[in-house]
Amino acid sequence: MAPSNNPSSHTKPPVDRNVKHVVLGNLLFQTWYQSIYPEDLVSKDTDRLYVCRWCFRYSCDVDAYAKHSCVCQHRTTPPGTQIYDHGGYAVWEVDGDDHKLYAQNLSLFAKLFLDHKSVFFDVASFLYYLLTFTDPEDPENYYILGFFSKEKLSWDANNLACILIFPPYQHKQLGKLLMGVSYKISDWEKDGGLIGGPEKPLSEMGRKSYSRFWEERIARYLLLHDLNTEDSSRQKQKPSTSSRGKHPHEVMTVQELGLATGMLTEDVITALKGMGVVEPTTPSKRGRVNQEAGEVDEDKTVRIRKSRVLEWAKAHRITLRDPLRDEGFLGRWAPHHTSEISDSGSEESDE
Ligand SMILES: [Zn+2]
Repeated sequence: MAPSNNPSSHTKPPVDRNVKHVVLGNLLFQTWYQSIYPEDLVSKDTDRLYVCRWCFRYSCDVDAYAKHSCVCQHRTTPPGTQIYDHGGYAVWEVDGDDHKLYAQNLSLFAKLFLDHKSVFFDVASFLYYLLTFTDPEDPENYYILGFFSKEKLSWDANNLACILIFPPYQHKQLGKLLMGVSYKISDWEKDGGLIGGPEKPLSEMGRKSYSRFWEERIARYLLLHDLNTEDSSRQKQKPSTSSRGKHPHEVMTVQELGLATGMLTEDVITALKGMGVVEPTTPSKRGRVNQEAGEVDEDKTVRIRKSRVLEWAKAHRITLRDPLRDEGFLGRWAPHHTSEISDSGSEESDE
């Protein structure tokens, strides 16, 4: 995949960084933050760090890097198990416990572009989801574009810990693809599955990306689902609907909207406020109307006019079809679950 012409809109002036630039495959780009590479291998003032684009091993020595590139064990396939494949994009699940060195090297590299999230060496308790692209014209060659990590056991039901699209591949909506994957695999659609969201607090960039992702998710739900028809998979969350006349609108609570989209109510509120599609409802039981200025409370019933959602979608050029395709999911996440047990991807280890 061709790197973006606009590699980074990252405007923050670079802070004191141990590594100034990285060479990833044949791409050279600037780092944003300090990482925690061991000082005996990466000196405090490294201008160029060479990083393998398949396994994230690093070296300050271009010859050692070139030599490794010829023999890298992941040059044809990433580690782990493929869980998604559609249109050249694939997602691979890598267990940090099975691939410790890989996960550590990926984390070290990612930290060069992540500010507030601490990169943990406790990789064994995380799963990593790599986003790859393979050009059909060149099927032997794959590119890792970014990833997200997820705690295996999250008490807050966080469906994502860290997310990063590597700078050369940003501004291509790829973060949304990964966010969509994180929701899809967070089990909320199953009975007893918990609704979650990304680990908070979010960075400034994370907040912006997530707000837009949530807005689009809600817009697609409201515009694509015929809420009058009982959807068998969501019977238990069927919202109250009113669509009389020429201007159908949905009257539902924020919680119902969250149950239907697998989103936390606080995230639904963020999205609805951002979209500005909530209209004042008739006074509530408590006799208050507090939605005049787009105020939205957690257990509040909201009135959402579909035409305004459509206007919002047009103004923001949202494609109504989700770029993340259900039919792209494989194994246990495939649309018609066939109780196929996927290989845990432990056939090779980095250790
Ligand atoms: Zn390598």
